[in-house]
Amino acid sequence: EKPLLRVEGLKTRFFTEEGQVNAVDGIDLSINDSEVFGIVGESGSGKSVTALSVLGLIESPGRITDGHVWYRSPELVESIGADEPSAVDGEYVDLQALSPRVRRTLRGTHFSMIFQDPMSSFNPSLTVGEQIAEAVESQQRARANPRSVASRTQGYGLSSFIMSTVMPSKRYVKEESLDRAIELLEMVGIPDPVLRAEEYPHEFSGGMLQRAMIAQALAGEPNVLIADEPTTALDVTIQAQVLDLLLELQEETGMTILLITHNLGVVARMCDRLGVMYAGEIVERGTLHDVFNDPVHPYTQGLLGSIPDLDGTRDRLQPIAGNVPSLLDHEMPDRCFFADRCPKAMQECLEKPPEFGIAESSSHATKCYLARTSYDETDALTEDYF
Ligand code: SF4
Ligand code: MG
Repeated sequence: EKPLLRVEGLKTRFFTEEGQVNAVDGIDLSINDSEVFGIVGESGSGKSVTALSVLGLIESPGRITDGHVWYRSPELVESIGADEPSAVDGEYVDLQALSPRVRRTLRGTHFSMIFQDPMSSFNPSLTVGEQIAEAVESQQRARANPRSVASRTQGYGLSSFIMSTVMPSKRYVKEESLDRAIELLEMVGIPDPVLRAEEYPHEFSGGMLQRAMIAQALAGEPNVLIADEPTTALDVTIQAQVLDLLLELQEETGMTILLITHNLGVVARMCDRLGVMYAGEIVERGTLHDVFNDPVHPYTQGLLGSIPDLDGTRDRLQPIAGNVPSLLDHEMPDRCFFADRCPKAMQECLEKPPEFGIAESSSHATKCYLARTSYDETDALTEDYF
Protein backbone atom coordinates (compact mmCIF):
# COMPACT_ATOMS: atom_id res chain seq x y z
CA GLU A 1 0.00 0.00 0.00
CA LYS A 2 1.12 3.50 -0.75
CA PRO A 3 2.12 5.65 2.21
CA LEU A 4 -0.21 8.35 3.45
CA LEU A 5 2.61 10.85 3.94
CA ARG A 6 5.95 10.96 2.20
CA VAL A 7 8.41 13.50 3.48
CA GLU A 8 11.26 13.99 1.04
CA GLY A 9 14.42 15.99 1.68
CA LEU A 10 12.65 18.39 4.00
CA LYS A 11 14.82 21.26 5.20
CA THR A 12 13.81 23.98 7.61
CA ARG A 13 16.15 26.84 8.33
CA PHE A 14 15.97 29.65 10.85
CA PHE A 15 17.65 32.83 9.72
CA THR A 16 18.98 34.40 12.90
CA GLU A 17 21.47 37.13 13.65
CA GLU A 18 24.10 34.55 14.52
CA GLY A 19 23.57 32.83 11.20
CA GLN A 20 21.47 30.15 9.61
CA VAL A 21 20.26 27.36 11.88
CA ASN A 22 19.62 24.08 10.13
CA ALA A 23 16.85 22.83 12.40
CA VAL A 24 15.58 20.18 10.01
CA ASP A 25 18.31 19.07 7.70
CA GLY A 26 16.94 17.05 4.85
CA ILE A 27 14.74 14.40 6.35
CA ASP A 28 13.03 11.56 4.51
CA LEU A 29 10.14 9.64 6.03
CA SER A 30 7.15 7.68 4.94
CA ILE A 31 4.14 7.23 7.15
CA ASN A 32 1.45 4.68 6.41
CA ASP A 33 -2.26 5.07 6.71
CA SER A 34 -3.61 4.23 10.19
CA GLU A 35 -0.27 3.71 11.84
CA VAL A 36 1.26 5.35 14.87
CA PHE A 37 4.61 6.70 13.77
CA GLY A 38 7.00 8.00 16.42
CA ILE A 39 9.71 10.60 16.09
CA VAL A 40 12.00 10.27 19.05
CA GLY A 41 15.03 12.26 20.11
CA GLU A 42 16.49 14.58 22.71
CA SER A 43 15.24 18.11 23.07
CA GLY A 44 16.82 20.33 20.47
CA SER A 45 17.01 17.52 17.93
CA GLY A 46 14.41 19.10 15.65
CA LYS A 47 11.36 16.92 16.40
CA SER A 48 8.86 19.69 16.98
CA VAL A 49 10.13 21.74 14.07
CA THR A 50 9.67 18.67 11.90
CA ALA A 51 6.04 18.35 12.99
CA LEU A 52 5.38 22.05 12.38
CA SER A 53 7.11 21.86 9.01
CA VAL A 54 4.90 18.99 7.92
CA LEU A 55 1.90 21.18 8.67
CA GLY A 56 3.42 24.26 7.09
CA LEU A 57 3.35 26.10 10.40
CA ILE A 58 6.86 27.50 10.33
CA GLU A 59 7.02 31.20 10.96
CA SER A 60 9.61 33.87 10.42
CA PRO A 61 12.56 33.83 10.97
CA GLY A 62 12.06 30.19 10.03
CA ARG A 63 11.42 28.94 6.54
CA ILE A 64 11.15 25.61 4.76
CA THR A 65 13.91 25.90 2.20
CA ASP A 66 13.72 22.58 0.46
CA GLY A 67 11.80 19.35 0.11
CA HIS A 68 8.30 18.02 -0.23
CA VAL A 69 5.58 16.69 2.01
CA TRP A 70 3.42 14.45 -0.14
CA TYR A 71 0.00 13.68 1.31
CA ARG A 72 -2.18 11.04 -0.31
CA SER A 73 -5.73 12.33 -0.54
CA PRO A 74 -7.85 11.71 -3.64
CA GLU A 75 -10.53 13.84 -1.96
CA LEU A 76 -8.21 16.83 -1.76
CA VAL A 77 -6.86 16.26 -5.26
CA GLU A 78 -10.40 16.42 -6.53
CA SER A 79 -11.34 19.56 -4.65
CA ILE A 80 -8.24 21.65 -5.33
CA GLY A 81 -6.43 19.92 -8.17
CA ALA A 82 -7.72 22.16 -10.92
CA ASP A 83 -6.75 25.31 -9.05
CA GLU A 84 -3.32 24.23 -7.91
CA PRO A 85 -2.11 21.73 -10.51
CA SER A 86 1.54 22.24 -9.65
CA ALA A 87 0.91 20.89 -6.13
CA VAL A 88 -0.66 17.67 -7.38
CA ASP A 89 0.89 14.40 -8.49
CA GLY A 90 -1.57 11.55 -9.00
CA GLU A 91 -3.30 10.92 -5.69
CA TYR A 92 -0.78 13.02 -3.81
CA VAL A 93 -0.76 16.68 -2.91
CA ASP A 94 2.50 18.41 -2.03
CA LEU A 95 1.66 20.31 1.12
CA GLN A 96 4.70 22.56 0.64
CA ALA A 97 3.57 23.58 -2.81
CA LEU A 98 -0.02 24.38 -1.79
CA SER A 99 -1.02 27.98 -1.35
CA PRO A 100 -0.94 28.95 2.33
CA ARG A 101 -4.65 29.68 2.11
CA VAL A 102 -5.60 26.15 1.12
CA ARG A 103 -3.06 24.69 3.51
CA ARG A 104 -4.76 26.52 6.36
CA THR A 105 -8.08 24.86 5.62
CA LEU A 106 -6.44 21.45 6.05
CA ARG A 107 -5.71 22.14 9.70
CA GLY A 108 -8.32 20.54 11.84
CA THR A 109 -9.93 18.70 8.95
CA HIS A 110 -7.12 16.67 7.45
CA PHE A 111 -4.53 17.37 10.13
CA SER A 112 -4.88 18.21 13.79
CA MET A 113 -2.30 18.81 16.43
CA ILE A 114 -2.16 18.38 20.18
CA PHE A 115 0.49 19.71 22.49
CA GLN A 116 1.97 19.24 25.91
CA ASP A 117 0.10 22.21 27.34
CA PRO A 118 -3.66 22.00 26.80
CA MET A 119 -4.18 25.51 28.19
CA SER A 120 -2.57 26.85 25.04
CA SER A 121 -5.38 25.34 22.98
CA PHE A 122 -8.22 26.94 24.91
CA ASN A 123 -9.48 30.43 25.42
CA PRO A 124 -9.89 30.85 29.18
CA SER A 125 -13.01 33.00 28.83
CA LEU A 126 -15.17 30.58 26.85
CA THR A 127 -16.67 27.30 28.01
CA VAL A 128 -15.00 24.11 26.87
CA GLY A 129 -18.23 23.03 25.15
CA GLU A 130 -18.53 26.27 23.17
CA GLN A 131 -14.96 26.02 21.99
CA ILE A 132 -15.28 22.43 20.84
CA ALA A 133 -18.61 23.27 19.17
CA GLU A 134 -16.87 26.09 17.40
CA ALA A 135 -14.17 23.73 16.20
CA VAL A 136 -16.90 21.46 14.87
CA GLU A 137 -18.44 24.34 12.90
CA SER A 138 -15.27 25.75 11.47
CA GLN A 139 -14.12 22.30 10.37
CA GLN A 140 -17.46 21.74 8.64
CA ARG A 141 -17.00 25.01 6.78
CA ALA A 142 -13.46 24.15 5.81
CA ARG A 143 -14.45 20.73 4.50
CA ALA A 144 -17.37 22.17 2.56
CA ASN A 145 -15.09 24.68 0.89
CA PRO A 146 -11.36 24.12 1.05
CA ARG A 147 -10.77 27.41 -0.70
CA SER A 148 -12.61 29.45 1.88
CA VAL A 149 -10.51 31.27 4.42
CA ALA A 150 -11.91 29.27 7.27
CA SER A 151 -8.80 29.48 9.30
CA ARG A 152 -10.01 29.34 12.82
CA THR A 153 -7.53 29.22 15.54
CA GLN A 154 -8.40 26.34 17.78
CA GLY A 155 -6.15 23.46 18.40
CA TYR A 156 -2.85 25.06 17.50
CA GLY A 157 -1.88 27.04 20.51
CA LEU A 158 0.13 29.44 18.43
CA SER A 159 -0.43 32.98 19.50
CA SER A 160 -0.01 34.39 16.04
CA PHE A 161 -3.06 32.47 14.88
CA ILE A 162 -5.02 33.75 17.78
CA MET A 163 -3.94 37.26 16.99
CA SER A 164 -5.05 36.82 13.43
CA THR A 165 -8.67 36.62 14.55
CA VAL A 166 -10.23 39.08 16.88
CA MET A 167 -11.96 36.99 19.46
CA PRO A 168 -15.32 38.19 20.61
CA SER A 169 -16.09 37.34 24.19
CA LYS A 170 -19.22 35.37 23.45
CA ARG A 171 -19.67 32.90 20.64
CA TYR A 172 -22.88 31.74 19.15
CA VAL A 173 -22.77 28.10 18.24
CA LYS A 174 -25.58 25.95 16.95
CA GLU A 175 -27.36 23.55 19.27
CA GLU A 176 -26.35 20.61 17.11
CA SER A 177 -22.69 21.62 17.27
CA LEU A 178 -22.92 21.70 21.04
CA ASP A 179 -24.46 18.23 20.97
CA ARG A 180 -21.56 17.06 18.88
CA ALA A 181 -19.14 18.67 21.35
CA ILE A 182 -20.77 16.71 24.17
CA GLU A 183 -20.44 13.51 22.14
CA LEU A 184 -16.77 14.26 21.59
CA LEU A 185 -16.23 14.88 25.31
CA GLU A 186 -17.88 11.57 26.01
CA MET A 187 -15.74 9.87 23.39
CA VAL A 188 -12.55 10.99 25.17
CA GLY A 189 -13.80 9.65 28.48
CA ILE A 190 -14.92 12.80 30.26
CA PRO A 191 -17.57 11.95 32.86
CA ASP A 192 -20.75 14.04 32.92
CA PRO A 193 -20.01 15.58 29.55
CA VAL A 194 -23.24 17.59 29.51
CA LEU A 195 -22.23 19.42 32.68
CA ARG A 196 -18.55 19.61 31.85
CA ALA A 197 -19.31 21.21 28.49
CA GLU A 198 -20.56 24.26 30.39
CA GLU A 199 -17.42 24.63 32.43
CA TYR A 200 -14.42 26.83 31.72
CA PRO A 201 -10.95 25.45 31.04
CA HIS A 202 -9.66 26.35 34.51
CA GLU A 203 -12.32 24.12 36.06
CA PHE A 204 -10.75 21.07 34.42
CA SER A 205 -7.86 19.08 35.90
CA GLY A 206 -4.72 18.74 33.75
CA GLY A 207 -5.63 15.24 32.58
CA MET A 208 -9.24 16.18 31.83
CA LEU A 209 -8.18 19.27 29.90
CA GLN A 210 -5.76 17.11 27.92
CA ARG A 211 -8.72 14.91 27.02
CA ALA A 212 -10.77 17.96 26.08
CA MET A 213 -7.94 19.16 23.83
CA ILE A 214 -7.98 15.76 22.12
CA ALA A 215 -11.77 16.10 21.69
CA GLN A 216 -11.25 19.51 20.11
CA ALA A 217 -8.55 18.16 17.82
CA LEU A 218 -10.88 15.38 16.70
CA ALA A 219 -13.79 17.73 15.99
CA GLY A 220 -12.99 17.84 12.28
CA GLU A 221 -12.36 14.09 12.04
CA PRO A 222 -8.75 14.55 10.97
CA ASN A 223 -6.91 11.89 9.00
CA VAL A 224 -3.68 12.65 10.79
CA LEU A 225 -3.21 13.63 14.41
CA ILE A 226 0.15 15.11 15.28
CA ALA A 227 0.83 14.75 18.99
CA ASP A 228 3.84 16.70 20.26
CA GLU A 229 4.86 15.39 23.69
CA PRO A 230 1.15 15.02 24.47
CA THR A 231 1.57 13.58 27.95
CA THR A 232 4.89 14.94 29.13
CA ALA A 233 3.33 17.33 31.64
CA LEU A 234 1.03 14.74 33.24
CA ASP A 235 1.71 12.44 36.15
CA VAL A 236 2.35 8.76 35.49
CA THR A 237 -1.09 7.25 35.92
CA ILE A 238 -2.82 9.98 33.96
CA GLN A 239 -0.13 9.79 31.31
CA ALA A 240 -0.78 6.11 30.77
CA GLN A 241 -4.54 6.71 30.62
CA VAL A 242 -4.21 9.43 28.01
CA LEU A 243 -1.89 7.29 25.89
CA ASP A 244 -4.33 4.40 26.07
CA LEU A 245 -7.11 6.76 25.08
CA LEU A 246 -5.14 7.88 22.02
CA LEU A 247 -4.61 4.27 21.01
CA GLU A 248 -8.30 3.48 21.43
CA LEU A 249 -9.30 6.50 19.39
CA GLN A 250 -6.79 5.55 16.74
CA GLU A 251 -8.35 2.11 16.48
CA GLU A 252 -11.88 3.46 16.39
CA THR A 253 -11.29 6.15 13.82
CA GLY A 254 -8.43 4.67 11.80
CA MET A 255 -6.58 7.97 11.94
CA THR A 256 -2.83 8.13 11.57
CA ILE A 257 -0.85 9.45 14.53
CA LEU A 258 2.51 11.16 14.28
CA LEU A 259 3.83 11.09 17.81
CA ILE A 260 6.69 13.32 18.85
CA THR A 261 8.38 12.30 22.08
CA HIS A 262 11.67 12.14 23.93
CA ASN A 263 10.41 9.13 25.85
CA LEU A 264 11.20 5.68 24.48
CA GLY A 265 8.79 4.12 26.96
CA VAL A 266 6.02 6.06 25.25
CA VAL A 267 7.27 4.94 21.84
CA ALA A 268 7.32 1.30 22.93
CA ARG A 269 3.75 1.56 24.16
CA MET A 270 2.33 3.39 21.18
CA CYS A 271 4.22 3.13 17.93
CA ASP A 272 4.19 0.79 14.95
CA ARG A 273 7.23 2.41 13.39
CA LEU A 274 9.60 5.15 14.38
CA GLY A 275 12.36 7.46 13.30
CA VAL A 276 15.18 8.43 15.64
CA MET A 277 16.10 12.07 15.25
CA TYR A 278 19.47 13.62 15.98
CA ALA A 279 20.71 17.11 15.12
CA GLY A 280 18.01 17.77 12.56
CA GLU A 281 18.28 14.43 10.83
CA ILE A 282 16.53 11.10 11.05
CA VAL A 283 19.41 8.73 11.77
CA GLU A 284 17.55 5.43 12.04
CA ARG A 285 14.06 4.37 11.05
CA GLY A 286 12.08 1.17 10.94
CA THR A 287 9.47 -0.88 12.73
CA LEU A 288 9.36 -0.71 16.51
CA HIS A 289 10.37 -4.34 16.60
CA ASP A 290 13.40 -3.94 14.33
CA VAL A 291 14.72 -0.75 15.85
CA PHE A 292 14.26 -1.86 19.44
CA ASN A 293 15.62 -5.35 18.94
CA ASP A 294 18.41 -4.54 16.58
CA PRO A 295 19.46 -0.90 16.81
CA VAL A 296 22.34 -0.16 14.47
CA HIS A 297 23.12 3.51 15.07
CA PRO A 298 25.24 4.06 18.17
CA TYR A 299 22.93 6.90 19.14
CA THR A 300 19.89 4.62 19.09
CA GLN A 301 21.86 2.02 21.00
CA GLY A 302 22.64 4.66 23.60
CA LEU A 303 19.03 5.73 23.86
CA LEU A 304 17.85 2.19 24.28
CA GLY A 305 20.41 1.62 26.97
CA SER A 306 18.66 4.23 29.03
CA ILE A 307 14.93 3.82 28.44
CA PRO A 308 13.34 6.36 30.74
CA ASP A 309 10.57 5.08 32.93
CA LEU A 310 7.04 6.19 32.27
CA ASP A 311 7.12 7.61 35.77
CA GLY A 312 9.54 10.22 34.53
CA THR A 313 12.33 9.52 36.99
CA ARG A 314 14.67 9.89 34.08
CA ASP A 315 12.77 12.40 32.13
CA ARG A 316 15.54 13.75 29.97
CA LEU A 317 17.43 11.39 27.80
CA GLN A 318 21.09 11.59 28.69
CA PRO A 319 22.28 8.37 27.22
CA ILE A 320 25.61 9.43 25.95
CA ALA A 321 27.84 12.17 27.24
CA GLY A 322 27.80 15.42 25.31
CA ASN A 323 25.18 17.57 23.67
CA VAL A 324 23.40 17.83 20.39
CA PRO A 325 25.82 19.89 18.29
CA SER A 326 25.21 23.46 17.27
CA LEU A 327 23.12 23.55 14.13
CA LEU A 328 24.48 26.90 13.04
CA ASP A 329 25.46 26.59 9.42
CA HIS A 330 29.04 27.84 9.67
CA GLU A 331 29.68 25.51 12.59
CA MET A 332 28.33 22.44 10.85
CA PRO A 333 31.18 20.03 10.29
CA ASP A 334 31.36 18.09 7.08
CA ARG A 335 31.18 14.74 8.79
CA CYS A 336 28.86 12.60 10.88
CA PHE A 337 27.18 14.97 13.37
CA PHE A 338 27.33 12.30 16.03
CA ALA A 339 31.05 11.68 15.75
CA ASP A 340 31.92 13.75 18.84
CA ARG A 341 29.78 11.54 21.01
CA CYS A 342 30.07 8.28 19.18
CA PRO A 343 31.86 5.43 20.94
CA LYS A 344 32.35 3.74 17.57
CA ALA A 345 33.56 6.67 15.50
CA MET A 346 36.01 5.73 12.76
CA GLN A 347 38.26 7.80 10.53
CA GLU A 348 35.78 7.85 7.64
CA CYS A 349 33.13 9.29 9.96
CA LEU A 350 35.20 12.47 10.13
CA GLU A 351 35.62 12.79 6.40
CA LYS A 352 32.10 12.76 5.04
CA PRO A 353 28.56 12.53 6.48
CA PRO A 354 27.08 9.04 6.16
CA GLU A 355 24.07 8.30 3.96
CA PHE A 356 21.24 5.90 4.76
CA GLY A 357 22.21 2.28 4.42
CA ILE A 358 20.96 -1.08 5.58
CA ALA A 359 23.20 -3.17 7.79
CA GLU A 360 23.74 -6.81 6.92
CA SER A 361 22.27 -7.85 10.22
CA SER A 362 19.13 -5.73 9.97
CA SER A 363 16.24 -4.88 7.72
CA HIS A 364 15.90 -1.19 8.41
CA ALA A 365 17.71 1.93 7.35
CA THR A 366 20.36 3.73 9.35
CA LYS A 367 22.42 6.82 8.57
CA CYS A 368 25.72 5.53 9.85
CA TYR A 369 28.79 3.91 8.32
CA LEU A 370 28.14 0.90 10.51
CA ALA A 371 25.11 0.16 8.38
CA ARG A 372 27.38 -0.55 5.46
CA THR A 373 30.69 -1.65 6.84
CA SER A 374 31.50 -4.29 9.35
CA TYR A 375 32.89 -2.70 12.44
CA ASP A 376 36.13 -3.89 13.82
CA GLU A 377 37.45 -2.66 17.15
CA THR A 378 40.65 -1.65 15.44
CA ASP A 379 38.72 0.92 13.40
CA ALA A 380 37.89 2.85 16.53
CA LEU A 381 39.44 6.26 16.97
CA THR A 382 41.88 6.53 19.81
CA GLU A 383 41.16 8.16 23.14
CA ASP A 384 42.95 11.28 21.91
CA TYR A 385 40.08 12.04 19.60
CA PHE A 386 37.67 12.42 22.49
FE1 SF4 B 1 29.35 6.83 14.86
FE2 SF4 B 1 30.54 6.90 12.51
FE3 SF4 B 1 28.10 5.90 12.72
FE4 SF4 B 1 28.52 8.50 12.97
S1 SF4 B 1 28.83 7.27 11.13
S2 SF4 B 1 27.25 7.25 14.26
S3 SF4 B 1 30.48 8.55 14.02
S4 SF4 B 1 29.97 5.07 13.61
MG1 MG C 1 9.70 19.87 21.33
